[in-house]
Amino acid sequence: MEPSGRKLTQGFAVIISAPSGGGKSTVCHKLMQRDHALRYSVSCTTRLPRPAEKNGRDYHFLSVDEFKRRMHRNEFLEFATVHGQYYGTPKHLFDQTIADGSVILLAIDVQGASNIRAKRPGTVAIFLIPPSWASLRNRLRGRRQDGKEEMERRLANARGEIAQAKNYEYLVVNDNLDDTVDQIEAIITAERLKLARQDLASFGIPELTLK
Ligand code: ADP
Ligand code: 5GP
Repeated sequence: MEPSGRKLTQGFAVIISAPSGGGKSTVCHKLMQRDHALRYSVSCTTRLPRPAEKNGRDYHFLSVDEFKRRMHRNEFLEFATVHGQYYGTPKHLFDQTIADGSVILLAIDVQGASNIRAKRPGTVAIFLIPPSWASLRNRLRGRRQDGKEEMERRLANARGEIAQAKNYEYLVVNDNLDDTVDQIEAIITAERLKLARQDLASFGIPELTLK
């Protein structure tokens, strides 16, 4: 059930993209803690788990063969190669959540965002930008879970990813974490309140549904 206590006529997806180290996982984690009505789209990937990551919670960690099997069975709404590994969004949970009238959160890259927005209109796209290059470098370093070479590869890819920010609907600077989470919550609240997403009959006010 939505926080308003009313169901939406149709749910919607909220995509959060950022360069690696931009704060997607941290921000999504905080959003899920604050808003229990949000669902999270657990992606599939062929990369290895980081020490703190759990299979099924952070990602479904798959072999390349298994990933390709699912790809051929058309189980992904979209998939892409990012930093040399496969990543894909499972279609079933995405469509089921929206049909249920709930909101699903996705932390995916710029290719995935563009594919999903083309296939599923109504998807909300937010780009998180770091306050500076220096802070992005420090945050990536601070994470210490990818090797040095992998970190450099991710930093090099960051320029191309940030160049795609202009195609998003919302741009949020991830400086102070609590402010970032507040701002994204405000976006989600405003999107939930859009008239077109609400079930006017559920208000019990006849004038709202007059033809
Ligand atoms: P992503 O999922 O986009 O790759 P993470 O969420 O793993 O990024 O964040 C990278 C690092 O930056 C983590 O160590 C995280 O704790 C830190 N971080 C994220 N957002 C902030 C913030 N607003 N202020 C300070 N550190 C942050
Ligand atoms: P990481 O390895 O740091 O978790 O993720 C690397 C990149 O892959 C990030 O930009 C992340 O958002 C993206 N990513 C994660 N899951 C998916 C997915 O299902 N599809 C796409 N296209 N990108 C994803």
